[in-house]
Amino acid sequence: MSIEVVNITKSYKNFTALKEVSLHIPEGELVALLGPSGSGKTTLLRLIAGLEQPDTGAILFHGEDNTNRDVRERQVGFVFQHYALFRHMTIFDNIAFGLSVRSRKTRPSKQEIKERVHLLLRLVQLDGLAHRYPSQLSGGQRQRVALARALAVEPKFLLLDEPFGALDTKVRQELRRWLRHLHEKLGLTILFVTHDQEEAMELADQVVVMNEGRVEQVGSPEEIYHLPANPFVYSFLGRVNLFRGRIRDGKVRLGEAEFETEWEHNSGELPAVGYMRPHDVEIALAPGDGHFVQARIQHISPLGPIVRLDLRRLDTDELFEAELSHQRFSELHVEEKSTVFVKLNNLSFYVES
Ligand code: ADP
Ligand code: MG
Repeated sequence: MSIEVVNITKSYKNFTALKEVSLHIPEGELVALLGPSGSGKTTLLRLIAGLEQPDTGAILFHGEDNTNRDVRERQVGFVFQHYALFRHMTIFDNIAFGLSVRSRKTRPSKQEIKERVHLLLRLVQLDGLAHRYPSQLSGGQRQRVALARALAVEPKFLLLDEPFGALDTKVRQELRRWLRHLHEKLGLTILFVTHDQEEAMELADQVVVMNEGRVEQVGSPEEIYHLPANPFVYSFLGRVNLFRGRIRDGKVRLGEAEFETEWEHNSGELPAVGYMRPHDVEIALAPGDGHFVQARIQHISPLGPIVRLDLRRLDTDELFEAELSHQRFSELHVEEKSTVFVKLNNLSFYVES
């Protein structure tokens, strides 16, 4: 089932949590809503689920207007970060809950419920634990029960709000892999909220980047990482170096380095920023072709597969980072306080107007 969000605005008193948000989620895709805390992710999910109404705009499921439809009729399954299981119920009863509270007309028989719950327990790899209570499970197992419970009612799509947020890194990684596998198996449309860029990149077919109630960019993980639409997306998606300067007559000047750009503007001089990922920084012992500036190594951190250098530019005093392979690092024979040449290639520029 595809989901269409059309120009939605949602305010609480005098705070606008969502501003003209539009979004298309194709059937069968796993889409991540990624953004910092407070950017409106949960609000958007609650609107799609039908737990709240937008001020303006519409929500369509498979082309059909669902904006004002009751939450119980939307056939969505959701799992929230702190969506606790019923503590006094067994795992079996927790998963069966959504089915057993149905009206007599739509409720499956006891036998059917039993079969479905056992099927789901197998799916979430918890067979044999049906008669335990939530307190007898690990955090990761409990979140899998919550997912099985959401799936029990055969939803047309799943909404997951930071479902692994409270778990430790190792369990999160396992559950991510597991969720991707589940998605492949069921082919269900899944909208997944996270503030963790790595989680979004690893899991999603499409990533929707949100900030301050707006959608900043929608794209595949590769697109948003390599072709970020603006400085916010750029810096949210990974470590980034930022060099400040000016643009004038189509030339950007960042300290001693000057770059030709394609910009044409006639409004005199404006502040400009150059962005660059640490792994794109090239270090050399002598200047070569291109834009080189000198920098001093402040600190060296060996980090498993890479070495990170903290550097200070000699021309502007700006601090930045470089990430090198171990091999490249050892070829350089540098140490803390060494002065090196830094090639400023792969810069992206933004003009602050
Ligand atoms: P996220 O899930 O991205 O962290 P939320 O959607 O929960 O963000 O919240 C977005 C903004 O809306 C926040 O600033 C939050 O304080 C505000 N907000 C959310 N729900 C309410 C509410 N019921 N009443 C008032 N403000 C709210
Ligand atoms: Mg939230």
